[in-house]
Amino acid sequence: MSGMNAPEYFIKDGLRLDGRAVDELRPMKIKLGTLGRADGSCYLEWGKNKVIAGVYGPRELHPRRLQKETEVVLRYKYSMAPFSVEERIRPGPSRRSLEISKVSRDSLLPVLFPNMYPKSVIDVVVEVLQADAGTRTAGINAASLALADAGIPMKGLVSACAVGKVDGTLVLDLDKDEDNYGDADLPVAMTPDGKVTLVQMDGHFTKDELKEAMEMAKKGCAQIYELQRRALTERYASTGNGGESDE
Ligand code: ADP
Repeated sequence: MSGMNAPEYFIKDGLRLDGRAVDELRPMKIKLGTLGRADGSCYLEWGKNKVIAGVYGPRELHPRRLQKETEVVLRYKYSMAPFSVEERIRPGPSRRSLEISKVSRDSLLPVLFPNMYPKSVIDVVVEVLQADAGTRTAGINAASLALADAGIPMKGLVSACAVGKVDGTLVLDLDKDEDNYGDADLPVAMTPDGKVTLVQMDGHFTKDELKEAMEMAKKGCAQIYELQRRALTERYASTGNGGESDE
């Protein structure tokens, strides 16, 4: 786990241990179209997190018995590479990765037009290459962009971030040490018009804290949306057709 012991404080003179303000996100870098063989893809760095999302489809779903007559089936697979954390992770699904896959899928489904691709499947694969807390939200941000990159019509992008509590103070976008030693964690995903598509809660918030935390998450998601929108605009401006980039 983390190399350090619990620090004596997390916030001093209004700043966090990594120098961020309480409502400041970690820096995020987005690159679209990084996987030549996927229909859509996105590589995303967020602080020390590194994730890649690939989208395959829509294509006909086999075996046929899994097809939905009038709707698309959305599948989402989140996994962590063995080398993504300090102590090697056992490859293969775990309870945690299955849970994250499920809630992440549910966070994206509301922005699709399910009836557009009956009998078909869209596969979203998210691989965490390096983890530093917030990987499910990083995965959702990347997956939402990879879906757009695949040219799949969407009602909007989904943006996600977490709000936590350290030293009794609410902070946006926990890093690993804040997550390890903090008091609570609230990952949230939402659409640009503020419709919440994922909320999870680990730890305890009072009613007022929860209200404030949702407000902070909303502001964080709005900033992330802006970065996502810019990345998409730049991609289509540079390639014209959204084809694979050469780098
Ligand atoms: P999230 O990554 O969405 O915040 P968690 O709250 O479950 O999800 O995990 C927080 C962080 O703890 C992860 O980002 C990762 O850095 C670390 N972590 C999670 N699972 C493991 C594991 N099995 N071994 C080591 N570190 C882990």
